[in-house]
Amino acid sequence: MFQKRDRNVKIVATLGPASNDYTMIRALFEAGADVFRLNMSHGSHEEITERHRIIRQIEKDVDRPIAILADLQGPKLRCGVFAGDSEELIVGEKFRFDLDSAEGDSTRVCLPHKEIFAALEVGSTLLVNDGKLRLTVDECGPDFANCTVVTGGTISNRKGVNVPDVVLPLAALSEKDRKDLEFVCDLGVDWLALSFVQRPEDVAEARELAKGRAAILSKIEKPAAVKAFAEILEVSDGIMVARGDLGVELPVQNVPPIQKRLTRACRAASKPVIVATQMLESMIESPVPTRAEVSDVATAIYEGADAVMLSAESAAGDFPIEAVTTMNNVAIEVESDETYRSIIEASRGTPIPGVAGGIVSAAREIAETADIKAICCFTHSGTTAALTARERPRVPIIALTPFDAVARRLCLTWGTHCVFTSEVERFKMAVVSAARIAREAGFATSDDQIVVTAGVPFNVAGTTNILRVAPCEERLIFRTEPE
Ligand code: PGA
Ligand code: MN
Repeated sequence: MFQKRDRNVKIVATLGPASNDYTMIRALFEAGADVFRLNMSHGSHEEITERHRIIRQIEKDVDRPIAILADLQGPKLRCGVFAGDSEELIVGEKFRFDLDSAEGDSTRVCLPHKEIFAALEVGSTLLVNDGKLRLTVDECGPDFANCTVVTGGTISNRKGVNVPDVVLPLAALSEKDRKDLEFVCDLGVDWLALSFVQRPEDVAEARELAKGRAAILSKIEKPAAVKAFAEILEVSDGIMVARGDLGVELPVQNVPPIQKRLTRACRAASKPVIVATQMLESMIESPVPTRAEVSDVATAIYEGADAVMLSAESAAGDFPIEAVTTMNNVAIEVESDETYRSIIEASRGTPIPGVAGGIVSAAREIAETADIKAICCFTHSGTTAALTARERPRVPIIALTPFDAVARRLCLTWGTHCVFTSEVERFKMAVVSAARIAREAGFATSDDQIVVTAGVPFNVAGTTNILRVAPCEERLIFRTEPE
């Protein structure tokens, strides 16, 4: 059995041309990647199918659940192509966007989204290529916008276009997204990430199409989503602080406070949150990160994020393994810092009312007061494991579930070592099984004790009602455990 990780925060690694084959993806897993992200903006369905097959093969070979997160492109706006592939836009000069599908030149390019032209006004801002280029609209109509270049630079084929100060009447899921959603749900993914969510209805729409085949993660990257965050969180299973587009749509200095607020709200709601984008950006080309990047990863961990993410660093960079290793090392260091514990404990909310909320809180208290090596929770829906993670206990959480889909989804949840176990009928056998896993995965020895939480009767979700301190040695369990 694959051994435990030595940290609580999870690592999400995006796959791409730099991480395409079994050897590399397995090396990324062994270096610390817990979740693999398939970006539907890049890669054909054949490539996605192949990466998916490889991940499931590795999962079998290492005998650990691995989550796959499929990231839908969403209504990302892109310009058309140029006759010469790219053009330089110069400050003060004029440039036109229109609906003409002809190749672009130094004076114009196609912007194949008539919704934009309908929503633009004189004075609106258009941003190109992650906000690097900025233009303002001087004159516009239903099929064109004549602009002045405010910040110049290179514009090239199919670059992304953002229109931050206009609410676009766009459907949450494009035609491509709907096809991709069906394709990945059919293939079998654990998490579906929705890009450019603007309203809670967008999440509801995706959920309806996913029909329970995947959990839904909302990417917060629009000002509208920040505004409606409470409602969006309510209907989502998880959140991504998508700092790339967020820092384009809003002034960059707004991103850190939003990251802090969203991270806290997700913990309070016991839903996983990923902090994403440019975490180790310089490692695309360099085997070592900048000090500022290390500090950024550390900050997300100090804030209590469930997961930190690599994008191009693992998908298209020269040092994917080094990037995962860096995150892993930063996490181990931060989490062993007493300041980390005091921050995490100071921001713990009061227990969620109800039996399960009380039990997970008591489990943490006991585990931290006595010499306990792990909190083992039997969970059907994953809810009890998520509630236990919300406590951010000092001891590891082992989540045992008879559903591989639940085990995989929990790969994103802070501090949770998830194990797929066959259905148990009797509590005594549950304790035996929890103790065996704690020993085999390296959490405990026969001399140690664990806390076990479960719901009796078994096989019914939402019944957590038992908390037991149990020995790890099998003979002792049989001697001490009532029927
Ligand atoms: P993306 O999302 O990589 O799909 O754009 C992340 C972000 O915008 O930060
Ligand atoms: Mn984005």
